[in-house]
Amino acid sequence: MAEKRVALVTGAGRGIGACIANTLAADGCDIAVVDYSDVSAAEETMRQLAEQGASARYYRCDVSDFSAVKAVTDAVVKDFGKIDILVNNAGVTADGLLLRMSEAEWDRVLSINLKGCFNLIKHVAPHMLRKRSGRIVSISSVVGLMGNAGQANYAASKAGIVGLTKSVAKELGSRNITANAVAPGFIRTAMTDALSEEQKQAMYKLIPLGSLGEVQDIANAVKFLVSEEARYITGVVLKVDGGMYI
Ligand code: NAD
Repeated sequence: MAEKRVALVTGAGRGIGACIANTLAADGCDIAVVDYSDVSAAEETMRQLAEQGASARYYRCDVSDFSAVKAVTDAVVKDFGKIDILVNNAGVTADGLLLRMSEAEWDRVLSINLKGCFNLIKHVAPHMLRKRSGRIVSISSVVGLMGNAGQANYAASKAGIVGLTKSVAKELGSRNITANAVAPGFIRTAMTDALSEEQKQAMYKLIPLGSLGEVQDIANAVKFLVSEEARYITGVVLKVDGGMYI
C-alpha cells in the first residue's frame, strides 16, 4: 500500500477548508487541521475526517502569527513525520468602501489572508525542500483578479497571493515543489450568506454558468492540483468561478 500523504489545511474548521480537508482525506491523505477558533467549532470536520479513516489532528493557531505558525508546523512534522501538501485556505473579510475603511480593517485582512500564506509557506517549505517534493495551493479569489468596490483590502490580499504563488513557484520548482493558486468565484458558504440579496442578484448577472459554485467545486480543483496528474503544473491561478471573470 502506498504511504499516506500528509496535508496541512488552514481554516479547515468549516466552509471551503473543511470540504478540502474531507476531499483530501477521501483521496487517502492524513490531515492537519489548522484553525484559530476553538476545536469545538471544528467538531463536525474532525468527526467526518475520522469517519473516512484519516488520521487527523487539530492545531489551534492564528495564521497571521509568525512564531505560532512556526510552532504549529514543527508540531505537525513531529506528529505526522512530514508535510506533503500545504493548502492556504484561511481567510477573512472586513468590507467597506476605501474612504471609510479603517487602518485596522486593512491590516487585519492583509495579515490573515496574505501574511498568513507567507508564514505557512516560509515554515513548511524547509520540510518540503529536505524531501525534495511538495505541493502548495493557496486560495485566492476572482476579486483579486478583477477588483471589487468595497473590498480594497480583501482584493489586495488575494492579488498578493497571486504574486506570492508565482514567485514561490519560481524559487522552489527546481526542488520538485509546485505552488499554485485557486481563485474561487461566488461560492455558497457562510462568507457569501452574509451578503445582501441585492448584492447576490448583482453577482448572478456576472456568472455565465448562472449559479453559485459549491465548496466541492473548489475542493475538486485543489485535489487535482496536489495530484500526480498535475505534476507539471506550477505558478498557475486556476479560476473556479462559473466564468465570472474571463
Ligand atoms: P469561512 O469564513 O467559512 O471559513 C474560513 C475559516 O478560516 C474558518 O474556519 C476560520 O475560523 C478560519 N480562519 C479565519 N481567520 C483565521 C486565522 N487568522 N487563523 C486561522 N484560521 C482562520 O470562509 P470560506 O468561505 O470557507 O472561505 C475560505 C477561503 O476561500 C478564504 O480564503 C476565502 O477568502 C476564500 N474565498 C471564498 C469565497 C466564497 O465565495 N466563499 C470566494 C473566493 C474566495
